Amino acid sequence: MMTRVMTVALLLVVIAASVAAQPALPVAGPPGASPTLGLAPPAGAVVLFDGKDLAKWTRMDGNPATWKVADGAMTSVGGDIRSQDTFGDAYVHLEWMEPDMPDAQGQARGNSGVALQGRYEVQVLDSFGIDVPGKGDCGAVYAQYAALVNACRPPLEWQTYDIIFRAPRYGADKQLLEHARLTVLQNGIVIQNNVQVTGLNYPPMDADPSTPGPLLLQDHGCPVQYRNVWFVPLPEKGSEEYEGKRAG
Ligand code: MG
Repeated sequence: MMTRVMTVALLLVVIAASVAAQPALPVAGPPGASPTLGLAPPAGAVVLFDGKDLAKWTRMDGNPATWKVADGAMTSVGGDIRSQDTFGDAYVHLEWMEPDMPDAQGQARGNSGVALQGRYEVQVLDSFGIDVPGKGDCGAVYAQYAALVNACRPPLEWQTYDIIFRAPRYGADKQLLEHARLTVLQNGIVIQNNVQVTGLNYPPMDADPSTPGPLLLQDHGCPVQYRNVWFVPLPEKGSEEYEGKRAG
């Protein structure tokens, strides 16, 4: 007769076997190529860069952007640039490629950045091969939250950011009710999970963070390339109804 110990042991073996049969979660780097690389802008998207020109961008002072455009990409040399279109809540997609800078270290190695509303920077850096990325490494909400895992591809490979941005909420007299929130997928891997950004972490481009803002791309003195940049504005909330109605 099977003893209680044997029964428990058998159960553990069965559980272990079922766990082992699960596919590995995509959380350990380096991953393969991004599943959203080359993703076409969906209906309702505002295309900021389609590989042709900088018509949708200016320098921070409003003058024309001067980043180099070649081979369907723009390169981050010529000062920070901002999109002319602004957004509140939004889904943002962009692709970027790190330069190969083997002699550069730390923050000098392929530094750029993507600032949501020009206020909240998601770091762009060559952090490929770093075991445990820090708050200044690629994928960090700069100086606030390190990436959960290192999802970086090597230099000279295209990478993706898919960012769900929730703008801060303000009351009628502009008191802060809820901080901004960010979820970030890098190359299809969740690296920021709905983090609350407790302050502006990029030099604020204007004094009023309750207003919509642009996408800002940072020039940090490194030739980082960008392409396929677009965002989809998101409504602040869905319906108040429990069930909807069908038309016809
Ligand atoms: Mg940066």
